Amino acid sequence: MDKKIIIAIDGYSSCGKSTLAKDLAKALSYTYIDSGAMYRAITLYMIQNEIDVNDAEVVVANLDNIQLSFKYNEILDRNETYLNDRNVEELIRTPIVSQNVSEVSIIKEVRQFLVKQQRQMGDSKGIVMDGRDIGTVVFPEAEFKIFLTADVNTRAQRRYDEMLRKGITISLEEVKQNLEHRDNIDTHRAESPLYKADDAILLDNSILNRDQQFKLVLNMAKKIIENLNPKEENINSEEEMVD
Ligand code: C5P
Repeated sequence: MDKKIIIAIDGYSSCGKSTLAKDLAKALSYTYIDSGAMYRAITLYMIQNEIDVNDAEVVVANLDNIQLSFKYNEILDRNETYLNDRNVEELIRTPIVSQNVSEVSIIKEVRQFLVKQQRQMGDSKGIVMDGRDIGTVVFPEAEFKIFLTADVNTRAQRRYDEMLRKGITISLEEVKQNLEHRDNIDTHRAESPLYKADDAILLDNSILNRDQQFKLVLNMAKKIIENLNPKEENINSEEEMVD
């Protein structure tokens, strides 16, 4: 069987990380894991239980009550997030969660709790995971790392359009402020801040469309996978050369 790799995609909020990750996972028959959904689900739990997300001690004391999982929805053709066996895929994308998630994500014990689960998901490789610390902390040995960025106005417009399509009422300015707020906390926090791993490729997709970006990255991934799985003719010809 072909050897599989881990693909780590990091970057700022609303850079299209999940779109790229899903497209890649589908093309390679890999599993897609949205690590941001896990931070969002923990945040949702705190909100639903009226826990102050700035009170780290209480947040940490509640981690034992949280069980996260992903289940594939055949009709919608996507992995959905479950919090204590309840489907929360839509709820974790609401503005109230976006406004509080970065506060929960700065808590060291929350990160340790999730990183452990994320590493287990990568045990047998063949995954594409996106987030903020995937190439730096979760899988520093990932075979392929991508760091995505795009200009903040482009990102805000994309997220705003997506929310409009979902029927969420919000202004473009509020969306932009939330992105800047999260980017600021995510890049400046003490624990696993967002930064580009030295061996990640940097992709600014402000001027690349979804298809262009996908083809570019898929070709790179295929080359890495091919190098890990040399074809038999190649092995034979190498042996002949040695003889
Ligand atoms: O990826 P998404 O925008 O859904 O992530 C929501 C938030 O979760 C981020 O703004 C960040 O605060 C946090 N996060 C993180 N580390 C990850 C993934 C997400 O801190 N690996």
